[in-house]
Amino acid sequence: MELISFLNQHDIEYTASESVARLSFVGIGGQAALAVYPKNRGEMLCLIAYLSSHRIPYKVVGNMSNILPPDGFWGICLVSTCKMRSVYFEEGLAIAECGLPLSLLCRTMLAEGRVPPAELSGIPATVGGAVYQNAGAFGIEIADYLRYADIYDPKQDRVVRVERDALGFSYRRSALSSHGILLSAALACHEGDIKAAEASMTRVLALRRKSQPSAPSLGSVFLRVGETSAAYYIDRAGLKGYSIGGASVSTKHAGFIVNTGNATSRDFRALIAFIEKTVFERFGVALKTEIEIVKEKEGNAWLRFA
Ligand SMILES: Cc1cc2nc3c(=O)[nH]c(=O)nc-3n(C[C@H](O)[C@H](O)[C@H](O)COP(=O)(O)OP(=O)(O)OC[C@H]3O[C@@H](n4cnc5c(N)ncnc54)[C@H](O)[C@@H]3O)c2cc1C
Repeated sequence: MELISFLNQHDIEYTASESVARLSFVGIGGQAALAVYPKNRGEMLCLIAYLSSHRIPYKVVGNMSNILPPDGFWGICLVSTCKMRSVYFEEGLAIAECGLPLSLLCRTMLAEGRVPPAELSGIPATVGGAVYQNAGAFGIEIADYLRYADIYDPKQDRVVRVERDALGFSYRRSALSSHGILLSAALACHEGDIKAAEASMTRVLALRRKSQPSAPSLGSVFLRVGETSAAYYIDRAGLKGYSIGGASVSTKHAGFIVNTGNATSRDFRALIAFIEKTVFERFGVALKTEIEIVKEKEGNAWLRFA
């Protein structure tokens, strides 16, 4: 297999026939043809250039905390950013690589005497996933902190520095996918009262523990409806605790669906469809999913290992 020789030649780590459930935050998924783990910008660039020029389907993923993968075989190359976690500071900015978890970014900022975005500290995102999704909480979004991002555009085979305003941020959305792959992001951070910053991070994490389930989930499954959370309608429809297979509406937070142990992607999708139908029938409200759902048969099975 040519791709495998290429990876070996460039010393890029990979696993063949990888369990997607192992990589996904919610513990769901069948098998990916190949999972690749570039360690730095150079490896990422040459990998994506190779995949693009050979028309090999791929998906760049961070912590997979917003993606519901398929149960079956996923015939693509999963490019995980989990090894690209470096961060350095210059002037009022933290320059963070795409795979750095937000929690680690916040802790590093504290250690450097900088005030982190405490509101975002409990989101189980990487920097790349957070920018893609414009992750936010408690009235703050990552776009409020982003100054610019270095993005690889595979169509032009070059890295471009894109300013925040060119990334089309809105509620839980960005235009990142039309630019390419985020390599690193420059996030504003300033020196300040570290004790107070630490205390507000502790408060935010405690609030999350109190209001959100500890079982594996994908966070809020649905987008807000205007100013009203989807959880409000789901709760009022009496769906807390409602289950299909191993997928269950959290009894702690009606906007979350948890994996009670053996949930499949199909269970999740069936429960999502049931919630949408019930909420529409009861309130005339059409819920829209925040999470990205990948169904079976997406991506062609160009690769298969024994
Ligand atoms: C318990 C829990 C709590 C949560 N709380 C919140 C919350 O408070 N607020 C909130 O907004 N979200 C929340 N989420 C959802 C989720 O954490 C966010 O959407 C997060 O931004 C996803 O980041 P990720 O690294 O997991 O991205 P992934 O799920 O891996 O990917 C998401 C998308 O980003 C793309 N992507 C990832 N990295 C890159 C890159 N480097 N370049 C280009 N594209 C990329 C992927 O292709 C995919 O389309 C929560 C989830 C869980 C499980």
